[in-house]
Amino acid sequence: MTTHQQQLEKYADLALQKGINLQEGQGLLINAPLEAADLVRTLTAKAFGRGAKDVHVEWSDEVLTYLKMKHAPMEVLEDYPRWKAEGKEQMVKDGYSVLSIFGPDPDLLKNVDSERIAAANKATAQALADFQSFVMNDKVTWLVLGYPQKAWAQKMFPDDSGEEAQRKLWEHIFNITRVDQDDPVAAWETHNETLRQAREFLNDKQYKKLHYRAPGTDLTVELPENHIWHGGSATSEQGIEFIPNMPTEEVFTMPHKYGVDGKVSSTKPLNYGGNLIENFTLTFENGKVVDFSAEAGEENLKHLIETDEGARRLGEVALVPHESPISQSGHIFFNTLFDENASCHLALGKAYPTNVEVGPNMNKSEMDEHGVNDSLVHEDFMMGSAELDIDGETKEGDTEAIFRNGSWVLDFG
Ligand code: ZN
Ligand code: ZN
Repeated sequence: MTTHQQQLEKYADLALQKGINLQEGQGLLINAPLEAADLVRTLTAKAFGRGAKDVHVEWSDEVLTYLKMKHAPMEVLEDYPRWKAEGKEQMVKDGYSVLSIFGPDPDLLKNVDSERIAAANKATAQALADFQSFVMNDKVTWLVLGYPQKAWAQKMFPDDSGEEAQRKLWEHIFNITRVDQDDPVAAWETHNETLRQAREFLNDKQYKKLHYRAPGTDLTVELPENHIWHGGSATSEQGIEFIPNMPTEEVFTMPHKYGVDGKVSSTKPLNYGGNLIENFTLTFENGKVVDFSAEAGEENLKHLIETDEGARRLGEVALVPHESPISQSGHIFFNTLFDENASCHLALGKAYPTNVEVGPNMNKSEMDEHGVNDSLVHEDFMMGSAELDIDGETKEGDTEAIFRNGSWVLDFG
């Protein structure tokens, strides 16, 4: 029998080897909640074992986050400390990999005024814009990795004690990330190969438009010229292959920022900054949200969309078959890292510049010309289901079926 500590070690090995692909002599920045100390310590020991030159941990604590969001004066929330942003910038400029451990309480900020949350989110995004752009352009290797904090686990398993809920969620995470297999690294190589075939098929096709149809959804998404689909592993500026999200089941590219029209309905709750936004619809004209509504969390959706001009437009279009291992678990995770990999999704806000051939070194007007959206936010939301059909319009103007009933119809194997 494998003990929990053995599984945790396999998880850490997988994250360092296949995830960020840590190199000898390299530094590592870990962003982590205090509750994940066991995993952070395991990662740190293994990182030094692999020849890391330094491991720096940025701890956070949800209780402290809540207290600050609830009680600190507005001017404090509106002012993300410059020294903190500069520290992170300096590390990525020195080539540190960035590993973010992620497993927030989906309801953490339920009782905090949405204006205050919006102000803090905006200040954080502004202060960290340069750091984020380093990461989003793959200038260093990076990874987002799940950790079942108790509050999150209990949201999923409300009838269980904190310990039992956490144990159950660990089991799902180890299963979904293939850590429960004999050789997780080999399993990821096979999985990465499947994603590579899907993205290469779509890159050859260069569809002009995607057309989505499902209950509550009728949406056309234009894709920019020379768009690039990514999925599975990415390659950093230094040529290091890495996997930025674990789990990951998606292939994704960017929509043309002026080319989205129609209506889309969400199919899973979106955890946005400590609040859930549920059953929402967005209506687009010429790429811009012109109308929206939500059954829950509409105020937070409004703040998200009003962050800046680019937050009203899309920056990502991602395809995920409905039969992904995460959907098969049958759970809603209330956590975007997991839910986005169980469902076709779109993102409001900033596009990944690596999704077009012109690439990361565009200035603002070149980005606009190529239809590359820019914003302080990048927020994925789920709109896939077993009822989703997607057609692609080819360069010649023909229509081809891509997804039927939530799954690939293309045979790219
Ligand atoms: Zn995505
Ligand atoms: Zn995204």
